[in-house]
Amino acid sequence: MEKILEGIKVTKSFGALKALSSVDFYVNRGEILGIIGPNGSGKSTLFNVIVGVFPPDEGKILFKGTDITGMPTHRICRMGVVKTSQIVQPFSSMTVLENVLVAAMYGGGLPLKNAMKVAEEVLKVVGLYEKKDVISGSITIPEMRRLELARALATDPEVILLDENMAGLTPREIDEALEMLREINRKGITLVVVEHVMRAVMGISERIIVLDYGVKIAEGTPQQVAEDPKVIEAYLGERYV
Ligand code: ADP
Ligand code: MG
Repeated sequence: MEKILEGIKVTKSFGALKALSSVDFYVNRGEILGIIGPNGSGKSTLFNVIVGVFPPDEGKILFKGTDITGMPTHRICRMGVVKTSQIVQPFSSMTVLENVLVAAMYGGGLPLKNAMKVAEEVLKVVGLYEKKDVISGSITIPEMRRLELARALATDPEVILLDENMAGLTPREIDEALEMLREINRKGITLVVVEHVMRAVMGISERIIVLDYGVKIAEGTPQQVAEDPKVIEAYLGERYV
């Protein structure tokens, strides 16, 4: 099994706060990995370090064995690792299609004509093609989530990091989103999913990593982590346990 993405002793502090403490992780090619943990446990920070929003204080990030630690986000994106909701927030005065075009051109490095073809294709994949000429500032939340996914897909990634891409969705919309992610994964794209909706992350992930106060406290199948006393303890007081 090829480790497509790997983190070694990843550490990141904000002032006195240790947001990540020596976190080791790996993602196999083709896998769906879930990352869970209470609010403030370091999930988004880990994603930010992976895609180069800021470098770790210590530790390394490897993509297909190449050290990408501290590389700028646009370079990491061109290499094939992209995070949703981050490429720049959607340009709300541009149409849905234009937003995806920008991602295909600047994130994916395509000339306009090819970018147009890719943008239309990915809009079909996420079910937004009918809305392509709508100004993106006026689409609904579930459509916004799909647009974020389309923009990630338009960069032709090998790995997509999804940071709470299902926030604000109804149970039915979550089921649709999960089916879409499975479909994208079947096409060969590796997914790392951070999600507050437990049912969603437990249902879709093959393996789960649990963070608490920046420390990896558990790792295993959804069943294994759900039964782990350290995990139950970490979540005490959080309403979705
Ligand atoms: P999660 O995504 O698991 O909810 P985060 O990674 O966003 O957690 O945050 C982890 C901790 O780091 C929190 O205490 C948060 O307040 C802090 N933090 C995150 N990003 C920054 C930042 N850019 N500057 C200062 N503190 C931050
Ligand atoms: Mg977060």
